[in-house]
Amino acid sequence: MNKRVRLQVTGRVQGVGFRPTVYRYAVSQGLAGFVQNTSGGVLIEVEGAGNAVSDFIEKIKSEPPRHARIENIDITEIPGTGVSHGFEISASRRSEDILAGMPPDLATCDECRAELFDPHNRRYRYPFINCTNCGPRFTIIRRLPYDREQTSMACFQQCGGCGREYSDPMDRRFDAQPNACHECGPEVKLITVGNDSFEGAPITEAVRQLKNGAILAVKGIGGYHICCDACNNNAVSLLRKRKNRPAKPLAVMFVSLDEIRHHCEINPDEESQLLSVSAPVVILRRKQDSGLSELISPDTNDIGAFLPYSPLHHLLLTEISPLVMTSGNLSEEPVIKDEDELTRIMPDIVESALAHNRPIVRRCDDSVLKIIQGQRLFIRRSRGFVPEPVNLPVKGPSVLACGAELKNTICVTRDNQAFISPHIGDLDNYQSHLFFRESIRDFTGLLEVKPSVIACDMHPDYHSTRYAYEMDIPMKIAVQHHHAHIAACMSEHMITNQVIGIALDGTGFGPDGTIWGGEILIADLKEFTRAAHFKQYKMPGGDEAVRHPSRMALSCLFSEFGTECGEIIDVILPAISEHESKILIRMMDNNINSPLTSSAGRLFDAVAAMIGMGQPISYEGQPAIRLQACADRNETDSYPFKIESGGELYIISFGPAIRSIISDMRHGTSRGRIAGMFHNTLARAIGDTCDTIRHKHHLTQVVLSGGVFQNDLLLEKVTNILHKRGFRVYSHHLAPPNDGGIALGQAAVALAKLQK
Ligand code: ZN
Ligand code: ZN
Ligand code: FE
Repeated sequence: MNKRVRLQVTGRVQGVGFRPTVYRYAVSQGLAGFVQNTSGGVLIEVEGAGNAVSDFIEKIKSEPPRHARIENIDITEIPGTGVSHGFEISASRRSEDILAGMPPDLATCDECRAELFDPHNRRYRYPFINCTNCGPRFTIIRRLPYDREQTSMACFQQCGGCGREYSDPMDRRFDAQPNACHECGPEVKLITVGNDSFEGAPITEAVRQLKNGAILAVKGIGGYHICCDACNNNAVSLLRKRKNRPAKPLAVMFVSLDEIRHHCEINPDEESQLLSVSAPVVILRRKQDSGLSELISPDTNDIGAFLPYSPLHHLLLTEISPLVMTSGNLSEEPVIKDEDELTRIMPDIVESALAHNRPIVRRCDDSVLKIIQGQRLFIRRSRGFVPEPVNLPVKGPSVLACGAELKNTICVTRDNQAFISPHIGDLDNYQSHLFFRESIRDFTGLLEVKPSVIACDMHPDYHSTRYAYEMDIPMKIAVQHHHAHIAACMSEHMITNQVIGIALDGTGFGPDGTIWGGEILIADLKEFTRAAHFKQYKMPGGDEAVRHPSRMALSCLFSEFGTECGEIIDVILPAISEHESKILIRMMDNNINSPLTSSAGRLFDAVAAMIGMGQPISYEGQPAIRLQACADRNETDSYPFKIESGGELYIISFGPAIRSIISDMRHGTSRGRIAGMFHNTLARAIGDTCDTIRHKHHLTQVVLSGGVFQNDLLLEKVTNILHKRGFRVYSHHLAPPNDGGIALGQAAVALAKLQK
């Protein structure tokens, strides 16, 4: 008995070889019908014998293409047409009501890499080789659905050979939108300072310059990199000087996993991340005898490592490796993507640029992550992951969430899906602010949504907040910063009920007018109450206290020891002169420009300064990173602390710990032990506070978020202690715990508030 069924498939099903696979399965079952991309996914109709149809459906479910991710298949039986043979791959059709499967960019696959280095292949050494299993996607798409005419490849007319591959369903390059070859596709060129194009082979010349210690720009998938020889101290030092980036870690690209093993400790989970199609930067522990320049990550023992993910990277790295590969931008600006933006970094930072003529439609920085207990912890979620949606436990009208001020991302929802943008950056930078506006236009356009709700932070001075209030969207929902952190993590785990939320970060606007950042909340997606917070200290000079960690140390000592702190300061804080400390103390005493903060980040700053790491910072979170790096991971002791009850609100005071740290410093205790004990102290204090709250409110789920949880040592300790005490603990695996996850949390809270 013949029948005809219609299948609507959603998920990541475009740009991953889905239609040719469907074609092959249908033909092998002798079925008639068609398959086509829609802006919501893939639509299939098949007609034939009942058992052949069921086998076909089974096959799609059990053996989808390698990089496809099927979220849902909607199957309906429809009247047959009587046509019994001929299966077609039809042209795209627009459809607004089903969900899109925009694919992220995919790293070069093994087959393409083999062809790239095969002298007998017609694409031998072709820097833009790709197939349906690999290549750029998100960064070349102008509009959906994903078809060649809608990408930045539209301007390249395929040659006969490429055209035949492109239209043959049995070919690996069938419908591979960026398909190209030497004859018909994009080309690499070397641009030098004088802006003359180079004679001869551009890659060979680039390699020659890099070997001589030069600093080059290389056009990648989501933007330019700035690169140099990672084993050449002079080159790395020059790059740091020119980029005005004295200490922030630089990512390093290695030609192979073997080479990474040579320089770094690596476990199987980290290997599989490095080799994945997303090809993120994975933070690994550096080996003692690694020959990499010490200047790559002077504050830590970590190396941010990644593998070549475009054919051009492969061609370059086989000649010279490892290479420092850092974002092609001026300090906090967005990564540059076009040749006409090269003037921003050339000639001031780079001498030459290895460019090409395949336009990058949208910027997308490299993703950065760590593996903690087998799970991903994102520091930055961008290329290779964006625009894959995060499924929310709530749905409603489309929400545009504007995110935070630093490490900004935006988030747009459609139904129950949240689409988080690539990393945008710090919005007080003008170029980043433009990129923020551009991203909102781009994202809503690409997703074909008109948000009817706009969510933002409560901080009135964030650029993102001001933007939200200027926008012509009547419904505005301001979300408290730390509630957004907790909501982001809850959404990842599909939690909507009340939990204990531990939000530890540098700064966030508190509704009481103080700066929050060491917060224990009782929260569901909709509402929260502040159940406990870290003891508040003053920040003498406001933001200046963030740049000068020794000011926070002074503030803590002044608060704990009062006027007798003078002598301690002379011994402990050589970075502060007697004169300066007098002025700062007077400021705090008279409440002049000394806002109160419960920030966990500032507490890390203070302790780092107390043990001799009080130099002015050159990047956000530097003291905490150094404190973690020096901590003895095997330390089990901890310092005393106090949990003080102030009615409904508990205050967690590390005053007793600070007194003990000072005493330890005077007795010559090692920094490693002090830093280790400090981490243990935080974990125990959080454990005790959660116990107290559980006792009162009967909550057993604890959600961890905030930038301080990028500290994997603290994350592990807090998780372990809470597990031992019988809590269920949730941390981030899909979005970063830092402010890059704020937009996701804002969107979730807004949707929850709109529920009946
Ligand atoms: Zn490929
Ligand atoms: Zn061609
Ligand atoms: Fe934050």
